[in-house]
Amino acid sequence: MPRYEYRCRSCGETFEVSRPMAESSAPASCPAGHEDTVKLLSAVAVGGSAASAPAPSSGGGGGCCGGGCCG
Ligand SMILES: [Zn+2]
Repeated sequence: MPRYEYRCRSCGETFEVSRPMAESSAPASCPAGHEDTVKLLSAVAVGGSAASAPAPSSGGGGGCCGGGCCG
């Protein structure tokens, strides 16, 4: 089961929650009980990215065309 990292905006606590991918976007309460949390982008690779936000696909490092410097 993938783990997701969250950060509480009330107390600044960061914590991880293990939950199915189907519930990855569900709100999570911080250990202190706050519900004002945001999901962090963690390096979890479990195949099949269902992220709704466009992820920057750069960062290869090495190829000339990797960063769009070739126009
Ligand atoms: Zn909190």
